[in-house]
Amino acid sequence: YINDSIKELDEELGVELQETVFDYERSNATFFTLARNDDLKGILSAIRSVEERFNHNYHYDWVFANDETFTQEFIQLTSGAVSGNPTYVKIPKEFWSYPSWIDQDLAADVRDQMEADNIKYGNSESYRHMCRFNSGFFYKLPAMQKYRYYWRVEPDISFNCNIDYDLFKYMESNNKVYGFTMAPYEIHTTVLSLWSVVQNFTTSYPQYVSDDNNSELLTDDEGETFNMCHFWSNFEIGDMDFYRTEAYEDFFEYIDYSGGIYYERWGDAPIHTMAAAFLLDKDQVHYVDNTGYYHSPNGQCPINAEIREKLECDCSPEYDYNWSDDSCIPLYYEINNMEMPDEVSGFSG
Ligand code: GDP
Ligand code: MN
Repeated sequence: YINDSIKELDEELGVELQETVFDYERSNATFFTLARNDDLKGILSAIRSVEERFNHNYHYDWVFANDETFTQEFIQLTSGAVSGNPTYVKIPKEFWSYPSWIDQDLAADVRDQMEADNIKYGNSESYRHMCRFNSGFFYKLPAMQKYRYYWRVEPDISFNCNIDYDLFKYMESNNKVYGFTMAPYEIHTTVLSLWSVVQNFTTSYPQYVSDDNNSELLTDDEGETFNMCHFWSNFEIGDMDFYRTEAYEDFFEYIDYSGGIYYERWGDAPIHTMAAAFLLDKDQVHYVDNTGYYHSPNGQCPINAEIREKLECDCSPEYDYNWSDDSCIPLYYEINNMEMPDEVSGFSG
């Protein structure tokens, strides 16, 4: 048993552990889910999708984290749904709270103003703690320390195509550090000063900036302004050794110290994106295609009919977001000299 609470629960219920005979050599990797107890229904549905489309073949572990204590019901039902070993973590207070230098009255004023301006999650304090945790702390949890790769799963997401190869192994064998599956535009009112803070960082720490980076994805005017393109972080797969480098730690501290997580509403998605786009080489970043991934309100769906058939996709290409006008995938293809799918010309999803 990886987890004492499950062991106790199983003993209480008189469940006998079935030792699985399984000799596939996995990567050192785990799924990672941050969730509230209220997210139980949504996360069960997400787990069922991940297991059906991918993990029943591999049985990767699953780490669940929460700023509150998970209920026995949450633990019991999710541990029954995953095919790898689950672990349940209560996030330590220092990973889920204001750093000392934040003026909390000022932060509260900002939330009021953003609520008045109708900005999504603008009034939420917990959303900001969540974004800070996902940006700079999840990979520091003791339960995550023993793993190298993570794959983030949120409540209510689904994969509507089979992922018929070991994506963790793919990342490892190809030296990929950060993988994404969708790249929309950020709400610009949430990141007003993020670009200038990141510019100051890259100017102050040129030694961390990759010579062959993806920063062209983030600007349409040669660095003057941020074009709002970012990797959607509700799905991400990555190598946590990157976050554990001095480069990323200095980057996160710089971002955190600037205060914009609380005085604006910087998401972990644009923060991870800027790190990946400036600090990594182009070929360390990976577009995970053909997953049929869906997180409300957008999804991807392979626009090639043969791929949809081969991967048994339950999705409609009409609703594919990635090749729509609201997506940064075409720009990503362009700057990485990737060949656009044949169907793209004339396609607008
Ligand atoms: P959105 O995808 O940006 O609309 O935000 P979500 O509501 O999906 O939150 C992102 C992730 O953080 C999800 O996995 C949520 O379950 C989780 N999350 C958000 N707020 C909290 C919170 O206050 N506590 C915990 N434990 N998880 C949270
Ligand atoms: Mn979400």
